Amino acid sequence: MEKNNNIKKISFPHMGNYFYALKPLALLLADEVIMPPPITKKTIELGTKHSPESACIPFKYNLGNFIEALDLGANILVQSGGGCRFGYYGEVQENILKNLGYKFEFLKFVNDFSIIKISKYIKLNNPELSYFKIFKTILFSYLRVRLIDKIEAYLRMNIGFEVKNGDFERNLKLFLNELDKSKNILDLSKLKKKYLEILKNIPTKKPQNPIRVGIVGELYVLMEPFSNFNIEKELGRRGIEVHRFCSVSSILHDIFTFDSHTKSFLKHAAPYLKYHIGAHGTESVGLANKLRKQGFDGIIHVKPFGCMPEVNAMSALHRMAKEHNFPILYFSFDSQTSETGIKTRIEAFYDMLMMKKKRDTMQI
Ligand code: SF4
Repeated sequence: MEKNNNIKKISFPHMGNYFYALKPLALLLADEVIMPPPITKKTIELGTKHSPESACIPFKYNLGNFIEALDLGANILVQSGGGCRFGYYGEVQENILKNLGYKFEFLKFVNDFSIIKISKYIKLNNPELSYFKIFKTILFSYLRVRLIDKIEAYLRMNIGFEVKNGDFERNLKLFLNELDKSKNILDLSKLKKKYLEILKNIPTKKPQNPIRVGIVGELYVLMEPFSNFNIEKELGRRGIEVHRFCSVSSILHDIFTFDSHTKSFLKHAAPYLKYHIGAHGTESVGLANKLRKQGFDGIIHVKPFGCMPEVNAMSALHRMAKEHNFPILYFSFDSQTSETGIKTRIEAFYDMLMMKKKRDTMQI
């Protein structure tokens, strides 16, 4: 299983399409970037087989990605962490992989996300780089992240209404392909203009007042479509306008501006929460309450099985749903979750939202 050689090959786990954004940054630390194969059943089987049974689902997915990347020749792995059990992922995963016989270097960024700290870390590992080049690349990766989020947010809101099935997804693939080849900020600005125009010109049949659903919950299962059984696409297919506010842009924005949305989410979460409940739990409740007041038709709450911050959020969400007769659908994912069950529940939720919307409109 020994995969070490002199060429530095770096890899990091998948989460949605962000691999394309973080690639330039990773290249500052290695000669080559190894993209783990797209997540499949095999990935989760590998991850689950070698993880502690009680580990959260993102831990298992990440471990599966690492094993597949190491098998492709990666010899440097990157993991971040913080907030909850996520803070221990790197330590435990490194031990598991080393016990499996893999030879690699493991870079861990735990609660350590300021630009200054990341830059110093890169400089330490690659002293020949100038700080100017490091900052420029961080900015470039950040702008790639923002562009991905902008394009995907547009897709989420419109994919359910395309006239010709597959138009949006086909263009998303083309966009990602071009994004991967982009060399500088000017390229990104051209891409943004080009693809926003292409997407806006895709024929859609969108009603004036479509069903609007906000999706909240734990960040990994929110952002990695394989882990949530492509829930956003499923909702879109039923003609639902989907809104998601948690993204890598929003997380990076908080980090880079030393801002914290937690306080503002806590305000929105009143009277259902008094204190911060860890990770993204407060955000789930605050956002759900805010969207309810904005007239959204419903909320979908997603979490990995056993995720404590989101379990805490659920009791507050239950109260809010009951007091305001506000529809909230809960999904808890683990490695055994059945896709059929998810589709059936989404179907029933959609029917219920439709009936409620008709009834509410008739009462006005
Ligand atoms: S937020 Fe939940 S699922 Fe994610 S690492 Fe923390 S405890 Fe695990």
